[in-house]
Amino acid sequence: MTDTEQMMNPVEGQADWLQRYSDSVLGVFGSPPLVLDRGEGCYVWDVDGRRYLDLIGGIAVNALGHGHPELVAAVSKQAAEAIHVSNLFTSPAQIRLAERLIEVAGAPAGSKVFLANSGAEAIEAAIKLTRRTGRTEIVAAEGAFHGRTTGALALTAKAAYREPFEPLLPGVTHVPYGDTDALDAAVTERTAALVLEPVQGEAGVVLPPDGYLQHARAVTAERGALLVVDEIQSGIGRTGRWFGFQHAGITPDAITVAKGLGGGVPIGALVTFGSHVSGLLGPTQHGTTFGGNPLAAAAALTVLDVVESQGLMAHAERVGEHLRQGVARLDHPLVAGSRGLGLLRAVGLTRPVAPALATALREAGHLVNPVAPDALRLAPPLVLTTGQVDDFLADLTPVLDRVLEEDPA
Ligand SMILES: *Cc1c(COP(=O)(O)O)cnc(C)c1O
Repeated sequence: MTDTEQMMNPVEGQADWLQRYSDSVLGVFGSPPLVLDRGEGCYVWDVDGRRYLDLIGGIAVNALGHGHPELVAAVSKQAAEAIHVSNLFTSPAQIRLAERLIEVAGAPAGSKVFLANSGAEAIEAAIKLTRRTGRTEIVAAEGAFHGRTTGALALTAKAAYREPFEPLLPGVTHVPYGDTDALDAAVTERTAALVLEPVQGEAGVVLPPDGYLQHARAVTAERGALLVVDEIQSGIGRTGRWFGFQHAGITPDAITVAKGLGGGVPIGALVTFGSHVSGLLGPTQHGTTFGGNPLAAAAALTVLDVVESQGLMAHAERVGEHLRQGVARLDHPLVAGSRGLGLLRAVGLTRPVAPALATALREAGHLVNPVAPDALRLAPPLVLTTGQVDDFLADLTPVLDRVLEEDPA
């Protein structure tokens, strides 16, 4: 459609937008089901004016929900003052954010922060950090997701994502997630780093057995390898603590952060723990044009402040527990229970009906993510209320019944 035609048809419906999408946006995301143009709290609206309860939260990104007044005010104020100054210079917002990230990570003296623009970029920085150990081998886990840039993709396990782009970065091996014997065998004196998610998000919200991260810490320390924990999805209060590794009481060598950190404003971070690790990357060895600019830094500072001042970590734990109990009470033949921590959860299904269920739930006004054929992922804003969980659960049973009826197997 030309601009002139568009002016003559000012009221455009969703179908028109989706046609224009497929004509103009590169097809890597398939066909999105909705065109969203507005949000408030835990709700979003499509361009046809229909409202949805957002239980995906932009994939664990919109930690404060949509249009949070403090985030809107902070971003507006910072935009008026300085959006970008480059890394030839610095800004108070960037410095404050680095200090604050070290603080919430509980990282020791000598810890430092590199600010990037996305999760994959935080992982790239981590990969370069590990190369400076003088070793080149990296151990990651089966089921792992670490991003889509070619370096991060080498750590990501899924064959469908990797194979079209091989050969990738050499020296990466994948071991079964949660298997301590496999770590003992794979982590050697040639291993630069072991990279693990504390909860595997894209794999379908998979928790390791108790003691796994502690074991990963012990074996890497023993063999002189770094332990890098990917907190991109699990971080910023979502699991009930600032970071997933904190449930295990360990101190990693580095963590990667992104998604929820900016509350929707793109930002990523690598936190290096202690001066020994922080000293691995020096002047000229890494960089970014946008990373840590004052706009993104101001957004992230506000997210951290609001998560703390509004008690959103304890809230996420409470509302997540309410959701867990609600799903446990459903007693439906399609539901195999739920798993996760805080507000990073999956509803397990007894049959591969997750895509059909997600479509039916969307028609009933709820957005969920069919992360695997047999699992729905929920990663809602941390401000989700128990009442909103009850609204979802009330609609879930009739929707499950309908999906069962259509696919009686
Ligand atoms: C989303 C994600 C990434 C990649 O982040 P992008 O911002 O999409 O590049 C990396 N690791 C984990 C655990 C993630 O969930």
